[in-house]
Amino acid sequence: MKRIVVVGAGLAGLRATEALRKLGFDGAITMVGAEEAGPYDRPPLSKQVLTGEKDPAKTAYRSAAHYAELAVELRLGRSVTELDLRSRTVRTGDDDLPFDGLIVATGSAARRLTLRGEPSDVPVLRTLGDARVLRDALAGSRHLVVIGAGFIGSEVASSARALGLEVTVVEAAAVPLTRVVGEQIGEICAALHRENGTRLICGAQVCAIDREPGSRRVRLADGRVIEGDLVVAGIGSVPETGWLAAAGLSATDGIACDEFLNVGHPAVYAAGDVARWWNPLFGIAMRTEQWTNAVEQGRRAAANLLAGPGNGQPYAGSNYFWSDQYGVRIQFAGVTEADEVRIVHGAAADFRFLAYYRRGDRLVGAFAMDLPLPLVRSKLLIERAAGWDEALALVKEGEIVA
Ligand SMILES: Cc1cc2nc3c(=O)[nH]c(=O)nc-3n(C[C@H](O)[C@H](O)[C@H](O)COP(=O)(O)OP(=O)(O)OC[C@H]3O[C@@H](n4cnc5c(N)ncnc54)[C@H](O)[C@@H]3O)c2cc1C
Repeated sequence: MKRIVVVGAGLAGLRATEALRKLGFDGAITMVGAEEAGPYDRPPLSKQVLTGEKDPAKTAYRSAAHYAELAVELRLGRSVTELDLRSRTVRTGDDDLPFDGLIVATGSAARRLTLRGEPSDVPVLRTLGDARVLRDALAGSRHLVVIGAGFIGSEVASSARALGLEVTVVEAAAVPLTRVVGEQIGEICAALHRENGTRLICGAQVCAIDREPGSRRVRLADGRVIEGDLVVAGIGSVPETGWLAAAGLSATDGIACDEFLNVGHPAVYAAGDVARWWNPLFGIAMRTEQWTNAVEQGRRAAANLLAGPGNGQPYAGSNYFWSDQYGVRIQFAGVTEADEVRIVHGAAADFRFLAYYRRGDRLVGAFAMDLPLPLVRSKLLIERAAGWDEALALVKEGEIVA
């Protein structure tokens, strides 16, 4: 293999290129990214960048010198528009870039709020540019309305509260975060908002937003109107797979991969938010939009590409993520499809607890508020498919929460 192209200059793409060099690949590597910026850290964008604690310019993962040292050619501000598997080329602008190996790492884009059947221009938060615009807008606002109580919407609400704004969050579901942490824990996340002075309205559909200079009126389907001066939408994201459409690869909600992150062509692997892969740890196809997943999959995709078909290792990640809201560290690992969710340490009312998810006789998930180390220990149990009774016994014996 002489030429590897990585499409997407984000976290997964970065970790893939670094792994390629670490594993001894000495051919040409080109990383193509649609944004003008090289790979940068997104988690601070909804947290310290909005509160002014972090300079957005300091979110870059690596310096220009690093890419020169690795001999990685960065082509930034360039979108790949097409993949041709027959000729093994990707098209960017007027160029066709040939490859012997390809890593698909194009991530996901913020979903736009649809109003009156049309995608709206209500601000979203995905990129450095979005974060700068939102940070500046928050500085001149008094009442923020956040549409969507997912992790990004919740973190924006938390940051705005820290800045002293009045905040209303409008969520379509009856309980926020049900899909990602389950209903029981979602209720506790809702309580965390309310405890911190955020007004949370659940089960509500936004049908229109009236705009006047300095004022926004968010109209709900049930007739209620919320007055604010800034609106932001955090209603999830969509995988960036448009450029793969002509290649004949399966890409419904993410590019379909096997457990080796291979997309069904021997020279093409995928990693990060864009990949829907078969996860042998839980026996399901998953797509997750989490930092740790992007890091681990980037490395694994690179290693498997170099190893070649039949010689790779499966990626059995535990779907770990964290979120920081109102000074509370929230963490989760595993899956939420469970027969039982039980608080095994601490109390929800204190927003400091550890909860376990049981399916059959196995521990399949763990959620924590403000118990970082116990969650990491629990994650290891999930990764080795520990039994429920064993996990409970370890908690009781003080092995998980010291
Ligand atoms: C505001 C925010 C806060 C977050 N906070 C947390 C957190 O607290 N904890 C956590 O676990 N996770 C968090 N995440 C998620 C985490 O940052 C992502 O899962 C991670 O960045 C995914 O990496 P990726 O490389 O797959 O995608 P990305 O980082 O999105 O990188 C993909 C890159 O590919 C580029 N691209 C797309 N299409 C093309 C194309 N056709 N041609 C060329 N380039 C293209 C994109 O422009 C982008 O730069 C957060 C995300 C956001 C947006």
